[in-house]
Amino acid sequence: MSKYRKEQNFLVKHALNLHLNQKTYVKNLYPCYLGILFIGKISPSILEKLKFQIKLVFDSFFFDITFIREKNLDTCLNNLYTKEEFNLLDRTLTKVILYPTNNFYSIIKIQMSEKNLAIGLGLTNLPIYSSSDEKLLFLFGEANLKHNCAIISTHNLLNFYKSETAENRIIKEAIHEIGHLILGPEHCFNDNCVMRFSANIEEIDSKSNHLCEKCKSELENIRTTNNF
Ligand SMILES: [Zn+2]
Ligand SMILES: [Zn+2]
Repeated sequence: MSKYRKEQNFLVKHALNLHLNQKTYVKNLYPCYLGILFIGKISPSILEKLKFQIKLVFDSFFFDITFIREKNLDTCLNNLYTKEEFNLLDRTLTKVILYPTNNFYSIIKIQMSEKNLAIGLGLTNLPIYSSSDEKLLFLFGEANLKHNCAIISTHNLLNFYKSETAENRIIKEAIHEIGHLILGPEHCFNDNCVMRFSANIEEIDSKSNHLCEKCKSELENIRTTNNF
């Protein structure tokens, strides 16, 4: 996201892409099993907090949240379609390799089908860009509503000034992307809501890790529709 994303264009494109590419979204999936997969270097200490917070926000939507496994990067990612870009958040202006989100969705989907999980959430330390819009670089996270999975990149959530801990940022982004999988592609306009769009780290830090009353009532509607 970084400074690239400060352009208003990105906000519009982000919203449009979700609408145009993810029409096949269905809501009659819940309750179900959610699996979490680490791809690369993710500190295992976050797992229990992450599961606890997801259960707190999406109470009864998941029968259980299981840790699928930790995947070593060398064995699962190829270098097809990677991009080398300046990391604008790094003052030394070094270049980093960004990976397309589709690459991660393929890995998550294989694990979901092997373990019979309806929803998959991947966490990676690698920087990512959107496969549906190559101009969206250094994403914090992205949800794929068609395939019921999401990927979070911790790359730009770490090593910033500490108005919030990296763990809390990761948890907010994970809840945000799972929120898209359940509630749909729209963003919320309530300032404090976790479903508000965040263009940069400051905007992540300034929102809460829970849903506003409006989003909670949407969640309740889905619960009622699905009889649980
Ligand atoms: Zn979003
Ligand atoms: Zn909201």
